[in-house]
Amino acid sequence: MRYTDKKSGWLKVTEEEKNSIFNFCDDYLKFLNEVKTERESVLFIREALINNGFKDINSLDEVRAGDKVYYINKNKSIYAAIVGSNPLLMGLNIVGSHIDSPRLDLKPNPIYEDIEQTLFKTHYYGGIKKYQWTCIPLSMRGIIVKTSGEMININIGEKDDDPTFTITDLLPHLANEQLQKKLSDAIEGEKLNILIGNIPISDKEGSKEMVLKILKERYGIEESDFISAEIEFVPSFRAKNLGFDESMIAAYGQDDRVCAYTSLMALLDVEKPRTTSVAIFADKEEIGSMGNTGMCSHAFDGFVVKLISKTNNNPYLLNDVFCNSKMLSADVGSATDPMYKEAYDIHNASFLGHGVELNKYTGSRGKSGSSDANAEFVGYIRGMLENNDVIYQVSELGKVDLGGGGTIAYILANKGVDVIDCGVPILSMHSPYEVSSKLDVYMAYKTYKTFYNN
Ligand code: MN
Ligand code: MN
Repeated sequence: MRYTDKKSGWLKVTEEEKNSIFNFCDDYLKFLNEVKTERESVLFIREALINNGFKDINSLDEVRAGDKVYYINKNKSIYAAIVGSNPLLMGLNIVGSHIDSPRLDLKPNPIYEDIEQTLFKTHYYGGIKKYQWTCIPLSMRGIIVKTSGEMININIGEKDDDPTFTITDLLPHLANEQLQKKLSDAIEGEKLNILIGNIPISDKEGSKEMVLKILKERYGIEESDFISAEIEFVPSFRAKNLGFDESMIAAYGQDDRVCAYTSLMALLDVEKPRTTSVAIFADKEEIGSMGNTGMCSHAFDGFVVKLISKTNNNPYLLNDVFCNSKMLSADVGSATDPMYKEAYDIHNASFLGHGVELNKYTGSRGKSGSSDANAEFVGYIRGMLENNDVIYQVSELGKVDLGGGGTIAYILANKGVDVIDCGVPILSMHSPYEVSSKLDVYMAYKTYKTFYNN
């Protein structure tokens, strides 16, 4: 499939492949409805890996060609590998995605009452347009850890008989002043408070006490338990087929669970690879990849050292392994929106339904912070895609001086790995309801699978 033919991928696929695209995305939709946080992603991925013969690398003294292993990093990120027949020193084929998404986190002292209404205070996570997060149904997910170490799992707001939660906004009738403000200032971070109760207990005890009473009775939670908690509020919209032609998917959290899901499915399809196949499912990408579950930590190096030493190689070879490795940084890109065409250089933009997207570089203001893939490596990837009939497109995020963004690409590139960004273009990125094309989702899966098998 030659790249020069820039037209909709739907005009290039066979009827048979079209069926594969729709079938693949039926399962992707189910995944999106079930999995909405990094912890839930780790549980889903772990189960899928175990069902396909993967073992915890810590449970094995030795690993050999064909062995399938995984490593869970603090329940929030996970790495998996299938050991290849080639020596590890010849490098790894890595696909790296992230499983955290923009959302609203609870503050450590979240509960307060004002004019009989009880609210949760939040601190948003990741780059959101705050006005998009008011007046939508939210569900509460995450964990609370007691001082005893006991962990309480929370998942409220998705089932039909669950209560819902929402952030209210000022009615238009009284919003003359608010409507004069800049879009970025109209909804302040401190106004992203979630309504959670309104019945007071008595004249002396208000609706906050009522909420605390319910939390205690129903879930065993005390007010101070929120100090040691990770509670995320996420949109509770159902993931749906979008459009009369059902060619697209609308759902929360496709950045970057679309690449996590497609790379997981690709890895599960790999049998006895020549090069060791590795999948990274990272946390904390949306806030800069810091912390012990983000890609800037040394946890992934630790996993590769385990692979090296358990295949009876010298762990001092870590740097050589990285320098001989190839990686697809699997993250979403920005599809051109017909209503905001002015934000894109149309000659270097991505289009919905034109296939998986390659970004040679990201960054902002003159490629700042970008790893910028080598031409040699881009040539290799381009050849691989064309030889295997993968529909792909090549782009950058948007117009040069409008903004920018980054992924985990540079972090692995800094270790010596050849890396290119390669993922699914989406509309309404970082909004509560992101849109992808089923064709692009499937082509991402096909790309990762082809990459592992090369
Ligand atoms: Mn992303
Ligand atoms: Mn993002």
